[in-house]
Amino acid sequence: MDFDISPKMTELLGQLREFLQSDIMPLEKTVAEQGFRASQPQLQALRAKARERGFWLPQIDSEHGGLGLSLMEHGMVSEVLGRSPLGHYTCNCQAPDAGNMEILIQFGTPEQKQKFLNPLLRGEIRSCFSMTEPERPGSNPTWLDTQAVREGDQFVINGHKWFTSSADGASFAIVMAVTNPDAPPYERASQIIVPLDTPGFRFVRNVPIMGHAGDDYDSHAEVRYENCRVPVTNLLGGEGAGFLIAQERLGPGRIHHCMRWIGICERSFDLMCQRAATREVAPGKPLGTKEIVQAWIAESRAEIDAARLAVLHAAWKIDRQGLYQSRSEISCIKFFVADVMLKVIDRAIQVHGALGVTSDTPLAAFLRNERGARIYDGADEVHKVVVARQALKPYGLKLK
Ligand SMILES: Cc1cc2nc3c(=O)[nH]c(=O)nc-3n(C[C@H](O)[C@H](O)[C@H](O)COP(=O)(O)OP(=O)(O)OC[C@H]3O[C@@H](n4cnc5c(N)ncnc54)[C@H](O)[C@@H]3O)c2cc1C
Repeated sequence: MDFDISPKMTELLGQLREFLQSDIMPLEKTVAEQGFRASQPQLQALRAKARERGFWLPQIDSEHGGLGLSLMEHGMVSEVLGRSPLGHYTCNCQAPDAGNMEILIQFGTPEQKQKFLNPLLRGEIRSCFSMTEPERPGSNPTWLDTQAVREGDQFVINGHKWFTSSADGASFAIVMAVTNPDAPPYERASQIIVPLDTPGFRFVRNVPIMGHAGDDYDSHAEVRYENCRVPVTNLLGGEGAGFLIAQERLGPGRIHHCMRWIGICERSFDLMCQRAATREVAPGKPLGTKEIVQAWIAESRAEIDAARLAVLHAAWKIDRQGLYQSRSEISCIKFFVADVMLKVIDRAIQVHGALGVTSDTPLAAFLRNERGARIYDGADEVHKVVVARQALKPYGLKLK
């Protein structure tokens, strides 16, 4: 394993840390208080600055205007940006757009790239990914109700989705819909690009997450497709290739999420240590003198470091051997890092006492926004089965 960081990366990470402190973090309070839409003028100015400084699209190859980093290098960038809820958005590497850019690059036609990918890369529009349905288990992507029926040179889409993250204000959705109901289960669904001004697309609501509905980019929508007609040229990849493309999207996406979570861990850890060092429980007795708080700090330090190494190793393996060979490592980090992150956030909140559950620190929002980490992109339990299956195979036990 070679984790040497090149001088170019050391410089980039240093510049990004400084940009985060000087420009990104100062905007957090405004966005948390006013919402994403009302903060657009400041956010767009921030994005323009990120672009000028050479921080734009760290996850994309240089041919498409990105920084051309390896997955492992982007992982390191993602950790730095993850310290702020605005970090990834500022550099145009936020989910779900980052995943959509990747699949459009890999599977899009020249026309789709021109119409949907290029404005996305330039940061002029946003997008969303519309797969999960309230009436069906998201954990079984082969069982979807949404149908896209071909009529002449159009698909007619009907379906009900939710957790179409960031649909509020997005220009298009990539919709997972059944096009071939009689094909084998993994070949039934296709991905279809639906511009959100298409008649029949209905935005229902931003689903409140622990009481917070959010807005614009910071939201998770319930939507309906009601006889929504799009040209067949909006099909992404082949008919029936929806599941395969979704798998391609999720592999690197999990590295991005996990490293962003390490950034959240480090920010929470900083806050925990600051509070432990300064909050006196009696005159001259800061909280950090209590052994139980010391134990939380030590355990958090060890767990964050272990989590980071596991993610960087998974990224390193994907860079060299591809997604398929790395599926056990990817599944391990998905449930392990989510668990570490939630434990570290919770300890940091505990050390802050009542202040920890207020909006005066980012900790409460971290907990609210990131609890879903154990559910999306594969629930913990599903990933544990993948790891156990791989581990038991050499011992002769074949799990389905
Ligand atoms: C914050 C957030 C953002 C999201 N963004 C998007 C998005 O942009 N686009 C999109 O399409 N979807 C999105 N989702 C939805 C997400 O992909 C689904 O929630 C996920 O796939 C799980 O599906 P479900 O919620 O229907 O839970 P279910 O499939 O009903 O599962 C419920 C629970 O059952 C357990 N379980 C499931 N399968 C198994 C198994 N095989 N073995 C043991 N236990 C099991 C797990 O504990 C799981 O949490 C998002 C979700 C969240 C929370």
